[in-house]
Amino acid sequence: MIEVFNSGGGTQSTAIAALIVQDRLPKPDFVVIADTGRERQSTWDYLEQITKPMLRKIGIDVHVISKAKYGYNHGDLWSKNGNTLLMPTFTDFSGEIGKMDGFCSKTWKVEPVENYLRDECGVKKKDIRKWIGFSVDEARRAMRMMGTKDYVAGKIRFPLIDDVPMRRHQSLAVVQEMGWPQPPRSMCWMCPNQTNDEWKHLKETSPMEFQKACELEQEIREKDPTVFLHNSGVLLGDVDFEAQPYLPGMDHACSSGVCFV
Ligand code: SF4
Repeated sequence: MIEVFNSGGGTQSTAIAALIVQDRLPKPDFVVIADTGRERQSTWDYLEQITKPMLRKIGIDVHVISKAKYGYNHGDLWSKNGNTLLMPTFTDFSGEIGKMDGFCSKTWKVEPVENYLRDECGVKKKDIRKWIGFSVDEARRAMRMMGTKDYVAGKIRFPLIDDVPMRRHQSLAVVQEMGWPQPPRSMCWMCPNQTNDEWKHLKETSPMEFQKACELEQEIREKDPTVFLHNSGVLLGDVDFEAQPYLPGMDHACSSGVCFV
């Protein structure tokens, strides 16, 4: 099997990089991270300043894979035929707020990585064992994949569950032990899976990216006025994130290289 570490750029992915540097995990054949074109800039800054140089020191390159270049056969926000919005947005179409299915993780992350590895590196999908950075406290998310034939066939590996079991706070401790700064929150700046805390953090720490998310919501609503990026069904720029309830289970939903949608 070709071992492919699918980094999401967040805390658990950075902990996996640290464990590789510490020789507590084997060196994978490839380290990849998908560039959706809308990832928070802080993710790229951390990658360039910390993760890439540290892995380079032990002979590992990080492959940044552009969805714009390698996401063949798909549109951008909408499917190629223009009928389906790819993000897991919210809608009040039925009169109540509901969540739509998301296809962006597959079309913006998973498929571009597979296409890149096949077309640029000669690695076939059937030969890949994909590393995904779920930690022990995310076992429920991992279990959804553990029921798939890919996991049973040994094509999926959870290094922070299968190899060096640890919870998220322990992942952070591993990063800190290395003397590396705390990794950023890692997801697309307009991701509807953000918790209120994450939206608030985006608004406070990166107002330009928050503004871009508001503008993107408007752009989408010109085509489908039932769509919202926030689960309250309120336009993003008008949401009081402090007053919104906590959404259990959605923290860090998209920081592991494969989004939880
Ligand atoms: S972070 Fe959110 S918007 Fe980006 S690919 Fe994942 S689910 Fe889609």
